[in-house]
Amino acid sequence: MRFGSLFSGIGGLDLGLERAGNPSVKTSDIPERPILEFLAKLDRWATHGNARSMPTVQDAMPEGTPIKLQLSKMRALKKRGLVQGCYCGCRGDWEITDAGRNVLTHNVSTMPTAL
Ligand SMILES: [Zn+2]
Repeated sequence: MRFGSLFSGIGGLDLGLERAGNPSVKTSDIPERPILEFLAKLDRWATHGNARSMPTVQDAMPEGTPIKLQLSKMRALKKRGLVQGCYCGCRGDWEITDAGRNVLTHNVSTMPTAL
């Protein structure tokens, strides 16, 4: 199934915000498209966690996503070659890869839609 809008921004956030209150939220529950779109718009890498002085992937995830879960999600994206970065918990260095951009360019949904 394809998403209707290529540039839907952080449209998944509303749903995510609802789920943020759910303690059983899993890595697979975090929409990946907002993360890829977020990274694609940056001209530098992003960190994770709740940094205020630099971009953080938290901004593209449901509010209050635990760092452990943020890293788990980023690790899953890295395994699939969609992002580059370090998930050990240091600073992250998250950047989108050509493969990640390809997902956005071709409007491919790479996970079952949660909508
Ligand atoms: Zn590291």
